[in-house]
Amino acid sequence: MENYYIKTNRTFSSIRKYAWIFTVLVAIGGLWVPKLGLLVILIMIGLTATSFFTGRYWCGNFCPHGSLFDRVIMPISFNKKIPNFLKSKIMIVGFFLFFMYNFSRKVIGVSSFWGSYDFLNKLGFVFVTTYLMVLITGGLLSIFINPRAWCQFCPMGSIQKLAYKLGKSIGATEKNEKKISIEHPDKCHMCGKCSRVCPFQLTPYLEFGEDHQFHNINCIKCATCVENCPANILSLRTEEEATEMIENVCIEGYENRQRIRAKITDIKELGKDIREYTFIFISPEKVDYKAGQFILIKIQDEPKAYRAYSISSANEDSTKLSVIIERVENGYGTNIIFNDFKVGDIVDLEGPMGNELVVDNSAEKVLFVGNGIGITPFIGLTREILSNSSSVKDIKLLDGQRYENEFLYKGYFESLSQEEDRFQYIPVVSRDKNSSLKKGYVTHVLKDMNLDGYKVYMCGSKNMIVDSYNILLDKGVKKEDIFYESEERIAM
Ligand SMILES: Cc1cc2nc3c(=O)[nH]c(=O)nc-3n(C[C@H](O)[C@H](O)[C@H](O)COP(=O)(O)OP(=O)(O)OC[C@H]3O[C@@H](n4cnc5c(N)ncnc54)[C@H](O)[C@@H]3O)c2cc1C
Ligand code: SF4
Ligand code: SF4
Repeated sequence: MENYYIKTNRTFSSIRKYAWIFTVLVAIGGLWVPKLGLLVILIMIGLTATSFFTGRYWCGNFCPHGSLFDRVIMPISFNKKIPNFLKSKIMIVGFFLFFMYNFSRKVIGVSSFWGSYDFLNKLGFVFVTTYLMVLITGGLLSIFINPRAWCQFCPMGSIQKLAYKLGKSIGATEKNEKKISIEHPDKCHMCGKCSRVCPFQLTPYLEFGEDHQFHNINCIKCATCVENCPANILSLRTEEEATEMIENVCIEGYENRQRIRAKITDIKELGKDIREYTFIFISPEKVDYKAGQFILIKIQDEPKAYRAYSISSANEDSTKLSVIIERVENGYGTNIIFNDFKVGDIVDLEGPMGNELVVDNSAEKVLFVGNGIGITPFIGLTREILSNSSSVKDIKLLDGQRYENEFLYKGYFESLSQEEDRFQYIPVVSRDKNSSLKKGYVTHVLKDMNLDGYKVYMCGSKNMIVDSYNILLDKGVKKEDIFYESEERIAM
């Protein structure tokens, strides 16, 4: 499981970014000004009160220790798998009783000073030392195991869970609690990224209910999974909002998703760390797919995980497909594929999926824009459009790479542009000073193009897509004529 869990930004609000200052102020500053510890009472009231309505929302959005672990300690954390015993009932209940016993003992001891000048200082100091204990123990676990290892058995988290159960039993959570919700399970890439970035290492993608919601009591509603899901299908919603979402969801392009057993029949080296894999379908023997769709390849069973790849072939007889995969440095899935997948292996696929790049039959002018590995769907798309009697009269392909030797299927695109008057191939290099090709990014070329009446399909890096999208709008292309797909989440 090396490289499995991903360190990523978890602080999407000022409170989450800076609440850690409160922890340091109370736990360290309180050693000199013990009354600062009394502020912790407000924290305890806040976390208990909110958990009646929203479960562990506090832990993911307001907790000052959580902010310290996520913001300050995460960069130096080993970020390992959280051991199961830290999540076990014995640990959670045992530590809760141990903590409460010690804490109550200290508070009762201080109560004998009630009415004296020193009472508030002494009471504050109890909270200061408790806060300091959490900072040291939680901090060490955070560095050597995982930023949120402490939170698995934090007594305040246990109080929240108890209060939440009470709130739920009296109906207080029904209208207020937002849960992670998935637009539709058929749109999920099963990539497991929601789990790989989750502070608690939960597995929402394997646990969504019939109502499309994730009901795990430990979810701290931090939205890290929402921000990182490449399919952009997660959100935090109340029960009512989730029901409304299900009623309005469109799953066009995903209706034919199915499990497929397939055999690898060919692996071609196309460049440094770039390979084309061809699969022949075994069961079912025929699968209908459209150029522009993508397919999932299973990389492991435990936890179940797939990787999404654009189909690079055109569908000639529904018996096979190809994908082109670039190995990502330290990438979890691509290293499994590159090291373990051999010709003759039987693998599990799922799909076909997606309609973002499936070209509208009524289009007359089409512009394809791809950069990096994002060029791959356009191989099958150009082949499909040019070989059938589609209404498209003009196809342009803008292909951006860093160096001239990185272009994929350049020979194919060049000969296609010589054979077909309808097709124009425009390769652009961004870093290759010795190349005779156009220099710059695809965005530079886009600015100078006449795009009247074009439908535009883009695939590649998030930056390229966002920048191109804005240029296209400035040039008068309508929003409904722009389609895109990326391996990163894009919310526009
Ligand atoms: C619809 C769609 C189509 C796609 N088509 C193609 C295609 O045709 N060809 C292709 O090659 N790819 C394609 N992809 C991308 C592909 O699905 C995989 O994401 C890609 O192969 C990388 O997988 P991986 O498991 O090796 O990398 P991962 O391990 O998932 O890493 C991916 C990125 O995550 C970050 N990351 C990972 N681990 C860490 C860590 N520990 N700390 C910090 N950051 C980390 C890095 O930025 C890394 O570059 C497509 C994706 C989508 C969504
Ligand atoms: S499932 Fe999502 S919202 Fe819940 S804790 Fe994990 S990342 Fe945060
Ligand atoms: S991150 Fe991946 S597995 Fe999780 S919901 Fe999104 S697409 Fe599905």
